[in-house]
Amino acid sequence: MLGEAEEQTKQDSRMVTEVSQTGRGMTSLRTRRRMVKRLREAGISQPEVLAVMEKTPRHLFVDEAFAHRAYEDTALPIGFNQTISQPYIVARMTGLLLQAGPLSDVLEIGTGSGYQTAILAQLVKHVYSLERIKALQDRARQRLHSLRIRNVSLRHSDGGLGWAEQAPYDGILAAAAPAEIPEDLILQLRPGGRMVIPVGGASQQLVLVIRKERGFERQVVEDVNFVPFQSGIA
Ligand code: SAH
Repeated sequence: MLGEAEEQTKQDSRMVTEVSQTGRGMTSLRTRRRMVKRLREAGISQPEVLAVMEKTPRHLFVDEAFAHRAYEDTALPIGFNQTISQPYIVARMTGLLLQAGPLSDVLEIGTGSGYQTAILAQLVKHVYSLERIKALQDRARQRLHSLRIRNVSLRHSDGGLGWAEQAPYDGILAAAAPAEIPEDLILQLRPGGRMVIPVGGASQQLVLVIRKERGFERQVVEDVNFVPFQSGIA
């Protein structure tokens, strides 16, 4: 184990590298540590989720004009009227999926910027992610590639149908809110599998669904505010 002083030096040099790589203090490891501290204060406690959020460069998932705000706990525009999810929500949803133990295959609806995809990919075996807007999917693919995240399969399609060829899934996570949970989607969960999805219109709730041997258990987690789940592709 490293001595305390040695560990500090290692951290400092890592920070210097990051700052000089981006040219901005606002995108450094130190800024991410502050974000993680706030997540912890907001009740996120799973160490593996916090560790992955601390090391994932969220500023690379937003337009450069917003990079200096990437570690604020807020959603930010990513174009096409869509937003990158708020860090608290990413942590909360990831935590709910992983709460009962490690997961192998996870389906994500709404790749968007690819940030949530990157977080999940570092915590599960494989992520299958669907996005209905091709241009967003292309950008997400580039970002994941440049971060050398390889255990991800992306597909341009309407997530309401799920991805039947790869089913069943241990976990399903949706980043856009349908009025009702699509039936095709929920049937792609394996028994024991968990789905985290925002549901509603003007008022929305985050819902956790657990597939039992017979039927489903449904828990309302908290009020949320997601972009709408839309059908068809663009
Ligand atoms: N977790 C993403 C959230 C992006 S916003 C991030 O942090 O960047 C939600 C995304 O869901 C948008 O990109 C939107 O285009 C997509 N979306 C909405 N309805 C969809 C559907 N039916 N199928 C696939 N993607 C959908």
